[in-house]
Amino acid sequence: MGYDLHTHSIYSDGSLRPFELVRKAIDRGLDGFSLTDHDSIGGISEAVSEAARHKYTFIPGVELTTDYGSSEVHILGYNFDLANKQLLQKLEQIMKARNERAKQIIKKLKQHHLPLSWEKVQALTTSRFIGRSHIFRALEREGLIASEHRQGAFEYYLGKNGVAYVPHSEIGTLEAIELIHKAGGVSSLAHPGRMNNDSLIPELINSGLQGLEVFYPSHTPQQISKYLELARSYGLYCTGGSDYHGAFNQTRMGDAEAPEIGEWYHC
Ligand code: AMP
Ligand code: MN
Ligand code: MN
Ligand code: MN
Repeated sequence: MGYDLHTHSIYSDGSLRPFELVRKAIDRGLDGFSLTDHDSIGGISEAVSEAARHKYTFIPGVELTTDYGSSEVHILGYNFDLANKQLLQKLEQIMKARNERAKQIIKKLKQHHLPLSWEKVQALTTSRFIGRSHIFRALEREGLIASEHRQGAFEYYLGKNGVAYVPHSEIGTLEAIELIHKAGGVSSLAHPGRMNNDSLIPELINSGLQGLEVFYPSHTPQQISKYLELARSYGLYCTGGSDYHGAFNQTRMGDAEAPEIGEWYHC
C-alpha cells in the first residue's frame, strides 16, 4: 500500500472535512496521506488530531498556486513548520488576494450577463477560501448555467482562456519554493504532466525544488516513466497523489499514490 500525497478539503475546494479524509484514507487501506489544500493550511490541525486518534500517519501539506511568467505552476509543500511566521503571513496575504481576484471574476461575469453576487459565492464556502470552483458552484445554484451547458461552461467562463478569467498574481514560483524550504519543508512540482512545460523544471531545481509529483491520475505510463527518470537523474524526491476533491472530481482517494513510504520521497 502507498501514500496519497495530494488531497483537498473544505479548507480549499474539496467537499469533505479533514477528519473525513483521514477516515477515508484509513478505509481505503492507505498507509498514510497528506492534506494539500490550495494556498491554505487551515485544515491541518483537524487532520492531525483525527490521525492521532487513530494512530495514523498524516503528513502536513499545502499546494501553492504560483506564477512563473504567464504560466501557472502548482508547488506542493510537505512537512514544513506549521508555525513558521513567514509562511503564515504569506498565506494570509494570498487569501486576501484570492478574494480580491474572486471579486474581479464576479465583475467580469456580470459584464457577460451572469449577475452573481459576492454574498452568494461566500455562502458556498465554509472556510475563508474562495476559488473558481466556488464561483462555478454558485452560478449553478443560482440557475445561471443551464445543466446541458454545464460541461463547457467552466472553460467558457472561468477557464484559462475564459471570458471572465482573472490570472493569479499572488506568489511567484521561485518565491514559493524558497518559502517552503525556509519553513523546513520539502517542495514538489505538482502534476508536471498537466503543466506540459518541462523546460522550466531545471530552473526550478536550481532554485531549490526538491521533488516531482511523478504519480498522478492523468499522467500516462509514458509520462510516469519520463518523470521518474527525470527525478532520478536530478536526485529528486518522487511524490504522488490523487488530487482528490471529494464529490467535486472524478478521482478517488488513493488513485496514483506514491508507492512506498518510509521512503515516500525516494525513488
Ligand atoms: P483557482 O485556484 O481559483 O484558480 O481554481 C482552480 C480550481 O478549479 C482547480 O483546483 C479545480 O478544483 C477547479 N477546476 C479547474 N478546472 C475545472 C473544470 N474544467 N471544471 C471544474 N472545476 C475545475
Ligand atoms: Mn481544486
Ligand atoms: Mn493543482
Ligand atoms: Mn490539487
